[in-house]
Amino acid sequence: MNQFDYIIAGGGAAGLSLAYHLGLAGLRDRRVLLVDREPKRRNDRTWCFWEVGVGAFEPVVARSWDRLWFCGEGQPFQIAITPYRYKMIHGSDFYRYMDEWLADQPNVTRCYGRVERIDDHADGVTVTVDGQPYEGSWAFSSIYAPEPVPPAYTYWLQHFKGWVINAPTPVFDPAAATFMDFRVEQGDDVRFVYVLPYDERTALVEYTLFSPELADQAFYDAGLRRYITGQLGLTSYEIQHVEYGVIPMTDLPFARRPSPHVITIGTAGGMTKASTGYTFQRIQRQSRQIATSLRATGQPFYPEPSVSRHALMDSVLLNVLDSGRESGKTFFSQLFSRNSPPQVLRFLDEDSTLQEDMAMMATVNIPVFLSSALDLVGQRTLAALAAGARGVREAT
Ligand SMILES: Cc1cc2nc3c(=O)[nH]c(=O)nc-3n(C[C@H](O)[C@H](O)[C@H](O)COP(=O)(O)OP(=O)(O)OC[C@H]3O[C@@H](n4cnc5c(N)ncnc54)[C@H](O)[C@@H]3O)c2cc1C
Repeated sequence: MNQFDYIIAGGGAAGLSLAYHLGLAGLRDRRVLLVDREPKRRNDRTWCFWEVGVGAFEPVVARSWDRLWFCGEGQPFQIAITPYRYKMIHGSDFYRYMDEWLADQPNVTRCYGRVERIDDHADGVTVTVDGQPYEGSWAFSSIYAPEPVPPAYTYWLQHFKGWVINAPTPVFDPAAATFMDFRVEQGDDVRFVYVLPYDERTALVEYTLFSPELADQAFYDAGLRRYITGQLGLTSYEIQHVEYGVIPMTDLPFARRPSPHVITIGTAGGMTKASTGYTFQRIQRQSRQIATSLRATGQPFYPEPSVSRHALMDSVLLNVLDSGRESGKTFFSQLFSRNSPPQVLRFLDEDSTLQEDMAMMATVNIPVFLSSALDLVGQRTLAALAAGARGVREAT
């Protein structure tokens, strides 16, 4: 019996979240196949995000904070983010929670193997896993293969290495996480540190860069050592866990619907916010939208704006950073010191109104952003003209 209603290709954050939201939406009579190349056993990532109230994955929230440190230009200051809380989930807790939940869902079949192909046909899809075909009405894929970057788009990476360190003396403030600490040597890119305190002696310290290229491991290690010694004042500590990650930060248009019965989800579906790399909450939002649409209409496509104002603003910010017109340290410092922090979080969540966005944009360096906006319009117009000319040449 290789026939399913929904085939979910990729069982990471997006695939598992979608399976969960399908269940929450009451679609427990649909046959679901969830495929990943391997069972998830390792604590391979830590998710942080902000949220109001109790979320879908509250039972696995390991820590949460309503105050955050921001250390940019000028003196470090604390921001109160109520009604939001900044929450942290360990990957291993999330995977275990989902394994337990899925074990009680008889309509979901799990399968381990490599998804080799997804072929669309008149009434559904065939997903081939290690040579074995599975038929479905719809496929949801979080398998990400970066595409070549066309002219006039930016492809940066958020890359980071984190150490969970144990200090011999109390050094962390468990009541407040450090959201961004720019007190590290700055380059042409964006560099800062997150500190997520578990208790007074233990924290995940993450040295983070936004830039077009990755660094070698020794570079992150040196950045972490300098921060831990210089800013935290620790000369001896134990490293309990190491985390390394790369997240795309791009304004590239993602093919959300690559073929009639396939929808891309998670990072592959463009759920990573281009200007910050935050993805987890956007995955939850997309999973809810797909499940709601399937329940209401029988198909997964939910309404989306054809041009998103927030996506355009992300493009402009990436251009500002890429062109070096303004440093990330200056931009984020202005954003957080001149606006109410909950409002900034709402803006980053893309829940703000046009009027609120205009007010917020007035607090950063307007000429710099206008130059980048004009630059982008120029580049994209030229790219469109060049593509049009190519099309005419090919047609003749
Ligand atoms: C270390 C790290 C930390 C992060 N921290 C945060 C954070 O704090 N906050 C936040 O909002 N975002 C964060 N992100 C970004 C984002 O939330 C995660 O990358 C998230 O896991 C993306 O979910 P996804 O399902 O799109 O991809 P993944 O979780 O990577 O899932 C994709 C799945 O597809 C499977 N797969 C791939 N190819 C195949 C194939 N051919 N066949 C079968 N299976 C396949 C993989 O095994 C994987 O399980 C982080 C990312 C990383 C890497």
